[in-house]
Amino acid sequence: MWVDINVHLELMNAPSESVNQAATAAAVKFIATGTDPDQWDWLAGRTSNVAFGLHPRYAVQTSDWVSLLEGYLRKNPRCAMGEIGLDFRPQMPNRELQKKVFERQLALAKELDRPVIIHAVKAHSEVISALKRVGLSRFVIHAFSGSKNIAADYLAMGGYLSASCVLMRTPRPKALQVFRAMPRNRLLFETDAPDLPLAGMDQSSPEFLPIIGQSLALDFEISLSALEHLSYANARTLFDHDFVQ
Ligand SMILES: [Zn+2]
Repeated sequence: MWVDINVHLELMNAPSESVNQAATAAAVKFIATGTDPDQWDWLAGRTSNVAFGLHPRYAVQTSDWVSLLEGYLRKNPRCAMGEIGLDFRPQMPNRELQKKVFERQLALAKELDRPVIIHAVKAHSEVISALKRVGLSRFVIHAFSGSKNIAADYLAMGGYLSASCVLMRTPRPKALQVFRAMPRNRLLFETDAPDLPLAGMDQSSPEFLPIIGQSLALDFEISLSALEHLSYANARTLFDHDFVQ
């Protein structure tokens, strides 16, 4: 069984039932990640593995989202928190506001002991400082594409790094070397569907995770079945969940 740790179910072209069915047929379980309060309501009950979180794209001034988020997490004791993080590209919300929203959520994740799926774009050093300040070690950096030194910081804190089809691009990205050298028990996998489509496709979908796996198994010089086992075993450890349902 594969575990795709980051799917944006509400953005998929296909209805969620058919996404679920196609993923099941391909032996892929997936986590449908949260983005904003309206979407949390849509997500609840739509599929068995859900994460709730306020994405930096939706960082807002008001604070009533905090109690709402806490409510969803408490009602769903097995749920992770995500996608949360920092994105310092120019079109994104104000950086100070993003930092406040991110740290508030990290503190909540720590309080409730939930694993966190983190989005970090052009903001790794600020993400690392925030994780250290809060003292959080149950996290994964999704679609990681940073340097060896950045990876080492995350790994030293106990974090996981998630591999995506970005690693299949030509020319081969530098981050591929990071993934080849990192401890295999901290490796996770994702499609980020419908984003990050495979070459020649319009959008991604969780059932394509084994295709990414095939490519990475060759790169990592490991069998496909061993990589599939890591995908499941590592997700089971971080998320403390057997993904059977
Ligand atoms: Zn993201």
